[in-house]
Amino acid sequence: MEAVKLCKRGHERTPENVNHSRGCRKCACGSNQRYRDSHSDTLYRRTLGWKKNNRERAKLYEKKRTSNHVDNLTDAYMKKRLGQMGVVATAVNIELKRQQIIMKRTLKEFKQWRKGKENESNHADVYGIEQSDEINHEGRLQTRTGISSATGV
Ligand SMILES: [Zn+2]
Repeated sequence: MEAVKLCKRGHERTPENVNHSRGCRKCACGSNQRYRDSHSDTLYRRTLGWKKNNRERAKLYEKKRTSNHVDNLTDAYMKKRLGQMGVVATAVNIELKRQQIIMKRTLKEFKQWRKGKENESNHADVYGIEQSDEINHEGRLQTRTGISSATGV
């Protein structure tokens, strides 16, 4: 059986660890990381410079990145929202916040849907039904809490 060859730093040269130019992937990965660590200032300035010269594209990338967090309700986004409220981001709090946002979004969608329905059909008609519903609801509330009998309304 042929022994597995090793690279200069001792990584196994398995097919998965050899890149297209016959180099060691693990070494390349390490050296890239080391370069990023030691040149972080240069890279940061370079990125800033690129953003300055490519404002439109930079804005597009930024928007894409943000909308991914917002659309998919990622943990990072939940942490940010909790941080804005001054709440500690525990796993439970993150999940609760996520559920709250889902609820708010569903409600918003429903309101938009209802608004669309109102515009479609006879506006006054729908509004009338809604209004009488609200009055009925108020009446029920008052009977339940005894306000009507106390105030004599
Ligand atoms: Zn290596």
